[in-house]
Amino acid sequence: MLEVLNAGASARHAKVAIFDFDGTVSLVRSGWVHVMVPMMVDGLRELNSGESDAELTRIVEEYVGQLTGKETIYQMIQYAAELEKRGGKALPPLDYKHEYLRRLWEVIKDRVADLQNGAAPEKYMVPGSRALLEALKARGLKIYLASGTDEVDVRREAGLLDLARYFDGGIFGASDDMASFSKGMLVKRLVEQAGYSGEELLVFGDGYVEIDVVKQAGGIAVGLATDEPECLKIDAWKRQRLAGVGADFMLPNFLGCESWLPVLFATE
Ligand SMILES: [Mg+2]
Repeated sequence: MLEVLNAGASARHAKVAIFDFDGTVSLVRSGWVHVMVPMMVDGLRELNSGESDAELTRIVEEYVGQLTGKETIYQMIQYAAELEKRGGKALPPLDYKHEYLRRLWEVIKDRVADLQNGAAPEKYMVPGSRALLEALKARGLKIYLASGTDEVDVRREAGLLDLARYFDGGIFGASDDMASFSKGMLVKRLVEQAGYSGEELLVFGDGYVEIDVVKQAGGIAVGLATDEPECLKIDAWKRQRLAGVGADFMLPNFLGCESWLPVLFATE
């Protein structure tokens, strides 16, 4: 059910919908945080800074959460800074990104193979995603996919989930070249080059960053505070994060959109 955080907010002027991918529509990479955080805590622990594992975990979870939605490299840049802060000699952040992706692949490779072998895409999607995309398309919105995950991976996984065809605005993601893409750059381009006004932008995301950039531009934001991988109820920690950065609405998943879309697009 749609929770209204900002009374009076409405997406009635929306012409563009921007979707985050992982944790918003795709569950292929679900559990990534349980790969990234331990990798970083392990590296920091070796520096014997006197901090307990609990303290290190809290520090890592804090910046990883804050940077969620931004391209993965930014979490690695912060990790390198935390290593240096404790007297360590950090490798280039890109090396940590590649190591993280190698470890994550061990967790997700069976899911990708399952999809390649014909598993139903819905098994690895936030419930209700497809019906929502269909409904937004029927309303005439132009739909963009914008992810902090590498674009080559996003394209593959969107294809495996049979979702690529909904994103007529395009599919955008990160690459090893940091200057190539950011969610902020996409929003800036939509406003400055495509000429959309802020109120014409609507975003769906589970990350701090996509909610932030769209709110800064004057758009409407729907937070996905879903308890992965079940996605049946609100995750309180995600909800607090997304509400804190200005989400207008909150959802645990996209089920039953025919009943809540009239609230999201309320006309008065
Ligand atoms: Mg996400």
